[in-house]
Amino acid sequence: MESLNETQIQQKRSSRLILFPLPLQGHINPMLQLAEILYSKGFSITIIHTHFNSPTSSNYPYFTFEPISDGLSNTQASTSSDIISLLRVLNVNCVTPFRECLTRLLSENQEEPIACLICDNIFHFTQAVADSLKLPRIVLRTTSVASFLAFLAFPLLLQKGYLPKQDSQLEAPVPELPPLKVKDIPGINTQDPEIMYQLVACIIKETKASSGIIWNSFEDLEQSALATVGQEFPIPIFPIGPFHKYSPASSSSLLTQDPSCISWLDKQAPRSVIYVSFGSLAAMNETEFVETAWGLANSKQRFLWVVRPGSICGSNWIEQLPHLFLEKVSERGHIVKWAPQKEVLAHPAVGGFWTHNGWNSTLESICEEVPMLCWPCFGDQMVNARYVSSVWRVGVQLENGLERGKIERSIRRLMVEKDGEEMRERAIKLKEKVDLSLRKDGSSYKSLECLVSFILSF
Ligand code: UDP
Repeated sequence: MESLNETQIQQKRSSRLILFPLPLQGHINPMLQLAEILYSKGFSITIIHTHFNSPTSSNYPYFTFEPISDGLSNTQASTSSDIISLLRVLNVNCVTPFRECLTRLLSENQEEPIACLICDNIFHFTQAVADSLKLPRIVLRTTSVASFLAFLAFPLLLQKGYLPKQDSQLEAPVPELPPLKVKDIPGINTQDPEIMYQLVACIIKETKASSGIIWNSFEDLEQSALATVGQEFPIPIFPIGPFHKYSPASSSSLLTQDPSCISWLDKQAPRSVIYVSFGSLAAMNETEFVETAWGLANSKQRFLWVVRPGSICGSNWIEQLPHLFLEKVSERGHIVKWAPQKEVLAHPAVGGFWTHNGWNSTLESICEEVPMLCWPCFGDQMVNARYVSSVWRVGVQLENGLERGKIERSIRRLMVEKDGEEMRERAIKLKEKVDLSLRKDGSSYKSLECLVSFILSF
């Protein structure tokens, strides 16, 4: 990233930005990466955050952290039950603490004016607070642009009968959103889907009311989706991603990353390992877990597998793994609770990524030219997986359930067959586009310059 000269930095340091991440790992990471990018452009940074899943402030000594109460009960403060209810409750409980915190910061920071708020767009309530305090609000959207368009289309999809999804229709194409099939339409299992539709509608309404949208994506990756968003939203849009490539990021991981991943990978041959991780929220049942294990074992490939504690229904960690499996793979496999994922993907020993296609994981894989085996679970992941397999063609999908024979064949296809080799070649070309977009005068570089000027114009 090009640095500003000292005088320019001093001038800009006189303005402060307030950032408010949603307290989920896949949202905290990009928001803190964005904070680092904007700090390097000379802005002072304050992070308002909930007590629930609060970021590790000691990793960011140059930011100010302001905790606010989220009012969550012990049962509500969990990501393993109903995420939609959690998001709904957060949008209610945080209103007063957020407003009070912001009001105090505005009165305290008169010598260092607050230029604007940057909020995760799922915190839709923040628009009304920003309006009442006459503070511009820019939103950060942490998903792909294409998946956001699918959420935007919910009213149409409901009207045309694609939603609620019917089992007989899952393989049918959705001509209004090519190349999506009905089964790819975003969705989250929740007690009452109506609450999800209402939440999405609020998010979209308050995104439209915001001063601008920042995307962790880039022009060359999502050109046509960005053009559509540009038509639908009468506000500036800033595709400045991928965020994590701007600078070696400090860790915003909520779980401890196991360093043994890297020492284990150091002992493996180039591109011989498939890295397996399904992010911070996805879960599987015992049968899926055992099928996954045998699929990995029977593929005869080396693997680094993240089994997040609590991600296997009914058990704490890997107690349900058969002894025979552990004996068979002791030389070939390494299982950890949480990995330093960006370092893992950048390691020369990694040749493939079996992922749930959370947007961060998808981008991180693209940035290290690692082809993917896609197993999307919920939310935007199905859209990302469809783009990975059918548009960018840097991965293959594992569709219609986890079964050991299918897993074994898909892993071999990715890791040792010609198909996988071709995906890898396309991944290398896609990575070149990442590099070009971040270079001086590349699209993300220029978009970031526009964002900085935009903030300074407030
Ligand atoms: N991650 C990590 N270690 C792991 C697994 C994931 O640090 O073992 C990070 C990963 O690098 C990514 C984030 O957690 O930045 C997960 O975000 P993503 O959008 O991929 O999925 P989510 O967790 O939101 O489903």
